[in-house]
Amino acid sequence: MFKGLWLVIKNMFRKPVTIQYPQERLQVAEKFRGRQFLRLDKCIGCHMCSEVCPEKCIKMVEKDEKGNDLPRNQHRPSVDYSACMFCNLCVDVCPADAILGTKEFKMPEESRNGLRYSPQRLNTIDDLSKVKVTDKRSAVAVKSAAAKAY
Ligand code: SF4
Ligand code: SF4
Repeated sequence: MFKGLWLVIKNMFRKPVTIQYPQERLQVAEKFRGRQFLRLDKCIGCHMCSEVCPEKCIKMVEKDEKGNDLPRNQHRPSVDYSACMFCNLCVDVCPADAILGTKEFKMPEESRNGLRYSPQRLNTIDDLSKVKVTDKRSAVAVKSAAAKAY
């Protein structure tokens, strides 16, 4: 009994390990893999991201809004995040630096369908500082791509 009581007293003065999310937020690790950000203007429609995806959750959009076939270089990836395992292979393989990793993890949806991200939706993000860029040139390009998208 005393052992248990001692444990309670000891923990009463400890700082809580939990936080009051969403009022308080922790910084995610530098290497955290969140959802992707797509630079529509940089994508060359090579299909490499969809081919490498181990979950087969990247589908290339091959038709325009009217249902007409687009030329291959205008195909753009869409991602089904209900199946994605956030391995970032799609980011690593992209030859045009068009699909980039981000630290974005907030993706609440009421249905699975809501987790299907079109190329246009992949091109938007609340906070640009969450996009992980590998060099300065990419950082400038991401800003200009996002500026066009908003
Ligand atoms: S992070 Fe991995 S599983 Fe998710 S879309 Fe990219 S390649 Fe596919
Ligand atoms: S995002 Fe990259 S890998 Fe995917 S189709 Fe576009 S250029 Fe190719």
